[in-house]
Amino acid sequence: MIARVHPLTTTRRLAGPFDYALPDAPVGVGSIVRVPFGHQALDGVVVDLADTTDVPPDRLVTPTAVRDDSLPPELVRLALWMADEYCSTPARALSLVLPPRGRPRTELWAARTDAPLDGKRLTDGQRALLGDLPRAAGRDLAALRRLEARGLVAIEPRGRRRAPLTLPRPDPVVVPNAEQQAALDSIARGGAWLLHGVTGSGKTEVYLRAAAAALQRGEGVIVLVPEIALTPQTVGRFQARFGDTVAVLHSALGEGERYDEWRRLRAGEARVAIGPRSAVFAPVRELGLIVIDEEHDASYKHEGDPRYDARHVAEWRVSGDAHGGRARDAHRSGARSGRTLVCGSATPRPEAWHRLARLTLSERVGSRPLPPVQVLDMRGARHPLHPETRRALGSERKAILLLNRRGWSNFLACRACGKAWECPQCDVALVLHRAERAIACHHCGHREPVPERCDACGSPAVARHGAGTERLEAELNAALDVPVFRLDADTTAAKDAVPALLDRFASAPAGLLVGTQMVAKGHDFPDVTLGVVVDADATLRFPDFRAEERTFGLIEQLAGRAGRGPRGGRVLVQTTAPDAATIVAAASHDARGFVAGELERRRALDYPPFADLIRIVCSATQAGAPRAAAGEIAERAAGAPGAAVLGPAPLFRLRGRHRSQVVVKAHDRAAAVAAVRDAVAQAAGRREHRAVAFSVDVDPQ
Ligand code: ADP
Ligand code: ZN
Ligand code: ZN
Repeated sequence: MIARVHPLTTTRRLAGPFDYALPDAPVGVGSIVRVPFGHQALDGVVVDLADTTDVPPDRLVTPTAVRDDSLPPELVRLALWMADEYCSTPARALSLVLPPRGRPRTELWAARTDAPLDGKRLTDGQRALLGDLPRAAGRDLAALRRLEARGLVAIEPRGRRRAPLTLPRPDPVVVPNAEQQAALDSIARGGAWLLHGVTGSGKTEVYLRAAAAALQRGEGVIVLVPEIALTPQTVGRFQARFGDTVAVLHSALGEGERYDEWRRLRAGEARVAIGPRSAVFAPVRELGLIVIDEEHDASYKHEGDPRYDARHVAEWRVSGDAHGGRARDAHRSGARSGRTLVCGSATPRPEAWHRLARLTLSERVGSRPLPPVQVLDMRGARHPLHPETRRALGSERKAILLLNRRGWSNFLACRACGKAWECPQCDVALVLHRAERAIACHHCGHREPVPERCDACGSPAVARHGAGTERLEAELNAALDVPVFRLDADTTAAKDAVPALLDRFASAPAGLLVGTQMVAKGHDFPDVTLGVVVDADATLRFPDFRAEERTFGLIEQLAGRAGRGPRGGRVLVQTTAPDAATIVAAASHDARGFVAGELERRRALDYPPFADLIRIVCSATQAGAPRAAAGEIAERAAGAPGAAVLGPAPLFRLRGRHRSQVVVKAHDRAAAVAAVRDAVAQAAGRREHRAVAFSVDVDPQ
């Protein structure tokens, strides 16, 4: 027998798999082996077993080692599919689904033997020790060893789980209301579902009960959440209800914890995996249900290679094919069919709305109304806060302010000659961070001291334009008497900074939480009575077809934070576009109307979900080179059936690299992906494009 192995290397040039002779150790699809490769040794994954090989016997080598942990074959198939689907390589895709590195931790465990105690001479200390068994030997090892020598105690190593911190939340037992029950009845039939319900409408209760039903059927469950630090409530409620059968997977875990949690799932000791996007690769046994909470969240898209979308991967795991055909039709046939997908959101993506069967929770539990939204016209305003906002901040004890822009001011410009300070590596403005006395690039991290005067004309008049979270924090501190808590990437770089800051805000009797979109995630602060979107235009003006969707989502999510307690609440939206359809829809919490309008617009423009997008970015340090490569790719991709090609179009220079992009709008996804893969491979193989790097993004966000 022959093992077909993909060595795990990042280069795109090796076209595996390669054949190896089987070692003595048992090996199957999913085994992780160490293989000699050229002059080096690499880890590789067995993706197939075969009877014959073209490799001559004298050149056929054997893996030198086989790892204890292996991948379930389903994850091998999943990785190979991802490699194709996202124009990546099998090795890169396999690297994403690999078990975490580590080894089980053991400890010495002491237990009584059958030997009788009566008549034995024992000190009081020894008797106490014996009465305490069985337990880990710990510091008493020496004393226990003496008892072992007398045959009274047995000491053996035994596996010990490194358990991640648990955050169980109060988990009241509730009776599902009629809409929740209807949703559960539908979900019980299997298939892929969108659970649309405003924040506080009881979606999590539906997930919990659907998970309980799956466990009862003997199935395992995966629950995806946007980010553990920002969604401790959801994780805590799963832990509270299901206890140790929940495994938490996320990057902030220690290596040992991650390893143990993965192994518990693989062994079937834990049946529920919960975590951010990479938890979609959890080795859950008898997988029956995948839940995606806050399905609209941008964090489900991975920005490395392969640029996978956990929502799309979840569909594959549920239906076995990426387009959800089988799962999607299950709700029509009425019979339970295989696995189930439940995607929940208060602000679903138009894609999910269009493609998934919809279940609705139409109001908040207890009929508590959503907070009213007031739109404040900022045209001609001088101050970053509208007078109405300032009045409201003065009268409410606890408020959340959202400003999707970090730093002090967006850009610096010389009043005398007009010079603007830009990143030397990227063609973007440098943002002032006053506390650090630096201007910084938000794309590459470049930093330089704040200029005292213009280096072009010498003028000391350097103007600071626009306001970010840092400046807003300072202004609020100066104007109001309550503590201000700033939550953005600058204040939360340290590990555990996010939960610590949120805890301080939660326990403060009064205060303002100011920050980027992080403040709008699923936090639950019952005493927050005011939400303010300081500059709704910041997201609305973004040159992206998702700008409307994002803006609507942000306003709605913020509204979900305000008025959760008995005192109710309200939301203020500052904008210079008070009549924009998105703002108007958000002001009346009209998700249905918003998505309908958005789908109409997308249909007219031929955007997702009516076409699939593939974005190819070519980059190089020399100007001109990316454009030439992109032109070639555009030409080739245009040959794919049903594909329309946009570009090449220049992108701003990033990290010193000039960039050019091509966007393919596809109506036959598989054909277009294949055509792009081909076009990129051809271009990458040509000498004149040697200096060009290619990145392919299927379903860009
Ligand atoms: P969502 O996930 O949609 O934000 P949750 O499931 O967290 O909503 O529910 C909001 C609150 O209402 C929670 O405190 C939950 O315990 C409670 N709740 C949910 N369903 C019911 C119900 N049927 N009866 C009473 N309380 C409920
Ligand atoms: Zn100047
Ligand atoms: Zn830069």
